Amino acid sequence: MIIILKSGCSAEQAKEFAASLQKKYGVQVNIWFGTQSTVLGLIGDTSSIDIDSIAAQDCVESVKRVQEPYKKANRKFHPDDTVITLPSGQKIGDGSIALIAGPCSVESSEQICEVAERVKKAGAQFLRGGAFKPRTSPYSFQGLRAEGLDLLAEAKKKTGLPIVTEIMSEKYIDLFLEKGVDVIQVGARNMQNFELLKQLGRINKPILLKRGLSNTIEELLMSAEYIMSGGNEQVILCERGIRTFETYTRNTLDISAVPVLKRLSHLPVIVDPSHASGISWLVEPLALAAVAAGADGLIIEVHNDPKHALSDGAQSLTPDQFDHTAARVKAAAKALGRAVE
Ligand code: PEP
Ligand code: MN
Repeated sequence: MIIILKSGCSAEQAKEFAASLQKKYGVQVNIWFGTQSTVLGLIGDTSSIDIDSIAAQDCVESVKRVQEPYKKANRKFHPDDTVITLPSGQKIGDGSIALIAGPCSVESSEQICEVAERVKKAGAQFLRGGAFKPRTSPYSFQGLRAEGLDLLAEAKKKTGLPIVTEIMSEKYIDLFLEKGVDVIQVGARNMQNFELLKQLGRINKPILLKRGLSNTIEELLMSAEYIMSGGNEQVILCERGIRTFETYTRNTLDISAVPVLKRLSHLPVIVDPSHASGISWLVEPLALAAVAAGADGLIIEVHNDPKHALSDGAQSLTPDQFDHTAARVKAAAKALGRAVE
């Protein structure tokens, strides 16, 4: 249930009213102080609450029951966009296009440092790179694991780029925090690893949550809700292509998920055109489509030698190709009144 308060209602009155609702009905009440209005979001069993008696209170403008099962991720509870700001200053969701780029897997110091320098020069504000890799085959390269995190930290030290890397189990959360990972990625295959999501809800670190291969938009939002309900509200949603009957592309980029997610949720939404297509020449047009659809950012795979990449070479851009794509993304963003910082 959401309660929109009258504009004349002070912060003090709003807090008092929230506390009285909490006490009387045993529900959790979140207060959101927005630019236009103050909204109280009630979470829990609100079935016994009489809507008319709430509506009759002096400070209440309107009351609505919220049908959707996700609450904290719901835009109705938080009408303004959420902006995620890293301690180092980079932002996601502030209206500009966040560019995250780097190899699928971290392979060596030379590789990650070279790619980091190049993507930074092209305008990326974040470095990606997988250390713990979820591979379909147990015989494929599994990532350099803890050593990969060290190499990412080395590239971060050299370039100043914050690092984005995937976690596959809650048992590595402390390691990720120790090694200075800036944004923790939950990959498509772990979108519904609820134990992992719950534990990530307890830390204070941005989480990049990818949509599962066969998951609905509502399921993605419910996974975000798992993290947020634990207290970590810094969630970035990522559309990375879903399974369809089409086999030409690795997945099918569900471009409509971008405006739908932006409408249903206040969380930032980014797009991964690399995993969505599986084909390097498709990355740029899909990136441009994502910007046009209103994405807050892009995560793109870039490798210094795609032909010899240990994973996802076919979809990886060379640094030169990334220069071209980043320039086109910036031009598209500019044409739409957006910026790439
Ligand atoms: C990745 O980012 O390298 C990755 C494995 O992504 P996804 O979970 O979207 O497949
Ligand atoms: Mn990959």
